[in-house]
Amino acid sequence: MQLIGLTGGIGSGKTTVAHIFEVIGVPVYPSDLRARQLMEKDGALASAIAHQFGSRSYHPDGTLNVAHLADLAFSDPARLRELNALVHPAVASDLESWMTQQAGPYVLMETALLRETMAMTHLFRVIAVMADADLRKERVRFRDGLEPNQVQQRMSRQLSDAELNSLADYIIVNNGTYSLIDQCLAIHNSLLNAIERKGQEC
Ligand code: ATP
Repeated sequence: MQLIGLTGGIGSGKTTVAHIFEVIGVPVYPSDLRARQLMEKDGALASAIAHQFGSRSYHPDGTLNVAHLADLAFSDPARLRELNALVHPAVASDLESWMTQQAGPYVLMETALLRETMAMTHLFRVIAVMADADLRKERVRFRDGLEPNQVQQRMSRQLSDAELNSLADYIIVNNGTYSLIDQCLAIHNSLLNAIERKGQEC
């Protein structure tokens, strides 16, 4: 079973595309959601986070204090690396055991952090979802109520379109110009062919 990365910047449409692949029958590992669940439910990870980032990292009911951690991690790159060093191995081992429960020639890993994911695990191919910045800001404003400058701030911390272009094997354009379903189906077929060819080589 091959692991395929599905990435894109804020509001690009990763989750929307992930849903289309799920409808085709492709299992999707939602990295951000799983990481968040692990940070709350994995006792060893939660203790390590509380130890290194303070007991304020969790609310009294055990849920993650995202604002506290984001304040620490996004104001200091060293602290962000520290947090990633705790969370990524837990995600990698969760992904590995999740994959053993899936069926099919490939699974998708939806991730906003492509470089970190590539450092953590081997991706057979990478799909990047891209959309114009103004459209992404408008969609996120509608979805989360964030102002365009707040979205811009987050965009500036993420990979640029040029970086995504250089790292991705497939680009999905989500500007409303081309059918998302057609693009997903074309990529699905191409992946099946590539995986079959790889199988024949081995
Ligand atoms: P984030 O990284 O911020 O979680 P994302 O890349 O997963 O975002 P989505 O949540 O899939 O992006 O899409 C952002 C918003 O734009 C959602 O509200 C979604 O419904 C909407 N959206 C995505 N694609 C389209 C489209 N082609 N037409 C209209 N709305 C869209």
